[in-house]
Amino acid sequence: MASLTVLAPLDGWCMPLAQVPDPVFAEGMIGDGVAIDPVSAVVVAPCDGEITTVPAGGHAVSIRTAEGVDVLVHVGIDSVKLAGQGFQPLVRVGQSIRAGEDLIRFDLDIVARGAKSLVTPIVVTPVDGLRIARRHEVGPIRAGDVLLELEYAANARAQIARDPVDDGAARRTVTVPLRHGLHARPAALLAKRARAVNTVVTLAAHGKTADARSVTAIMALGVANGDTLAVSASGANAARAVDEVVAGLDDALKLERAAGDESAPGSSSPNDAARIAAASSPAPAARPCTRHAEAGRGSHISDPPIADGTLSGVVAASGFATGFATRLDRVVVAVAENGKGAAEESAELDRALGIVRARLTRIGGVGGTTRREIAEAHLAFLDDPMLNEAAHEHIAAGKSAGFAWRAAIGAAIAALDTLADKRLRERADDLLDIQSHVLLALHGEAQPMTRQLMNDSVIVADELLPSELLSLDRKHLKGICLSGGGPTSHVAILAAAMEVPMLVGLGSALRQVGQREALIVDAERGVLHIAPSAEKIADAQRHAEAWHARRAAERAAAQRECRTRDGTRIEVFANLGSVAEAEAAVAAGAEGCGLLRTEFLFIDRDSAPSEAEQREVYQGIAAALAGRPLVLRLMDVGGDKPLNYLPLPHEENPALGLRGVRTALRYPDLLRTQLRAALRVKPTGVVRLLLPMITEVAEVRAIRSVVDELRGELSHSAPVEIGAMIETPAAALTADRLAAVVDFFSIGSNDLTQYSLAMDRGHPELARRIDALHPAVLKLIALATAAGERNGKLVAVCGGMAAEPAAVPLLVGLGVRELSVVPAAVPALKREVRELTVSDCAALAARCLEVESAAEVRALVAQTIASPGGA
Ligand code: PEP
Ligand code: MG
Repeated sequence: MASLTVLAPLDGWCMPLAQVPDPVFAEGMIGDGVAIDPVSAVVVAPCDGEITTVPAGGHAVSIRTAEGVDVLVHVGIDSVKLAGQGFQPLVRVGQSIRAGEDLIRFDLDIVARGAKSLVTPIVVTPVDGLRIARRHEVGPIRAGDVLLELEYAANARAQIARDPVDDGAARRTVTVPLRHGLHARPAALLAKRARAVNTVVTLAAHGKTADARSVTAIMALGVANGDTLAVSASGANAARAVDEVVAGLDDALKLERAAGDESAPGSSSPNDAARIAAASSPAPAARPCTRHAEAGRGSHISDPPIADGTLSGVVAASGFATGFATRLDRVVVAVAENGKGAAEESAELDRALGIVRARLTRIGGVGGTTRREIAEAHLAFLDDPMLNEAAHEHIAAGKSAGFAWRAAIGAAIAALDTLADKRLRERADDLLDIQSHVLLALHGEAQPMTRQLMNDSVIVADELLPSELLSLDRKHLKGICLSGGGPTSHVAILAAAMEVPMLVGLGSALRQVGQREALIVDAERGVLHIAPSAEKIADAQRHAEAWHARRAAERAAAQRECRTRDGTRIEVFANLGSVAEAEAAVAAGAEGCGLLRTEFLFIDRDSAPSEAEQREVYQGIAAALAGRPLVLRLMDVGGDKPLNYLPLPHEENPALGLRGVRTALRYPDLLRTQLRAALRVKPTGVVRLLLPMITEVAEVRAIRSVVDELRGELSHSAPVEIGAMIETPAAALTADRLAAVVDFFSIGSNDLTQYSLAMDRGHPELARRIDALHPAVLKLIALATAAGERNGKLVAVCGGMAAEPAAVPLLVGLGVRELSVVPAAVPALKREVRELTVSDCAALAARCLEVESAAEVRALVAQTIASPGGA
């Protein structure tokens, strides 16, 4: 037995690794060792060797000894979040070092305040035949004291230092041409090729090796652009296997070129919106591109300062609130350590992986290239043999499936965490995403997790998913502020329904807002005030109270019918997706449902809802509406609302593809089932059918002929009203023709705006410009209302515009007589309409059609109508 001594790198209190407040260390996922709670601020080398890693943040150092043992000193827990603040690395990779020499200088105060803990683990990477024979006892320790004594078998040294390449095996050395090196996507491409050959292929770089089938292992090599990568294999097919894996690099290069810039694969986050936000950054290198990385606050260095303590954004859900900035951490699923037996736990893990795999396949099957690539990279993580092997080893050792999966992912993340390349470190987010998906699947995804919030929380994030919003504790949620996001996204629709003021498109400077910093969310004017004076906060609180009082008065008057000041009847309806919303809508004073988004019934399941199931839901909503009209929109699926039981082809531009009525006509069985369910709702005639994405008369005729045929079958003698959504410029421009074949129009202003301005409705960077008050959109609306009037057909608006105070006078002025909004917006809308006169609105609308921009329209409205929306 040979031995090796590791010395204490810091003064402080020596403690067992198990007491480190991070399972990655405490559970020995990286290796065995001890920890020191430091009182000195200079880390000294614990042994002689060569520096192998120094992460960009300078918070850790790995040293490889002459024996090939890797010793990691990691200052603090979650100190990566400091992104270098408070750390001064004194060494660089490749440098030889002697025990006792200085490695890192750090500021105890900054790290203590900014990291989860100062406790510093010192771990030795596990190697067969190596063990810790003695460790320092718990208690005070001085830098230079003996911390660990390692023993290794005589043959271990050979194994540690072994060249991974067998003599005579096939081997190629390549220079990696990829702009961002081997990050997740290219690693996935390589791994895919490696898994297809029946030979173990090994990659080597920077003195580390990786099984080429493992995405995580490849990424942990830390290969950057221009680095040398050795690809080797042995056995019968070695040469072919090596060529195959090298070809994976070509795949990745082609993809990178096709993407055209750095934004696509390297900075890809699990969400397209976040990617776009990241790509639009003036300083991409310094800006975190995922939610998790966002918590790292690495952007202090390059984000422009927040001028005059305010940021302007786009109102996604109106309101006014004061509160404290709250950044979200990911949901932590509690897992039991011990399993119920290897067979059961393995089966559980496989079941959960299957659920997540199906979901990712579904997500990747539609949408743009980036979305598909990200889904594929996540699938590659999911099927990573190393991760799976590691998890199954933990299970075999008696652990639960959840514990095993978390441990396997934790080790992979820890490996990435030590890399110098920020992009590669940020891929830890993808792993965390996969980790939480699988843990949630293990725990039955159907149960939403509630995230507790501190009092008066204002969520501050790059982006927020609907499921995340739904999981938040509404009681303490005061507002939402996003640097990206779009005002017509589903999360915005949800926020409006939950009456949570929400601003989007606040830009990257939002990342400078500190945790629990005081905020005023003015989602009336679209302004976020950061760290305002006590006086301003007091004013804002008064304003918020007044806002709530006004809301109470509006609610009290909401049950009355709605007429303008000069007596014109304007019906105020609600947009619905469920029975619960229907009940809320009636309570809020809705006079009917102007848009039932039936697609909510069809998505996120493995087979289409049966006629009986649909009928039950529609009937339930009709019952909740108690005789009020129910405008039932036929399923608006396809496009970005995929159905995993429909083999829709992959589309480059889903918004321009098979969606809405096009999908319905392509799948007549689905259509007929839905129509049958709708026609059977009682009382007869309460349901009006609304057709999404209409572009021509023939589509309406085709649906009407199916409806008539089914009416015959079902002995449904009463006529059925059919309306066309005006949400494509084609429909608006041919509204006269359409008016001849429909009973009513409903303007889908969300899509009409996106298609007329050619701007993706969820595009964060364009959020400020996707404005339904653009004169072009108003002109299209004017065409539809004029056609409706000429043909005696009601024109409604069911897009988000109907709930926008500045838009309401224009819509009324243009001839819209029904407005359908989220239930929560009904009372305020009724109040606003009651303050208007049709004659004033018509004059204002006529002027707005002639100006140059949405900004001019808004200015005209503001000048003419006193405080639209009562703001
Ligand atoms: C619209 O496009 O305005 C609309 C109401 O439909 P959706 O938002 O469901 O696409
Ligand atoms: Mg639409």
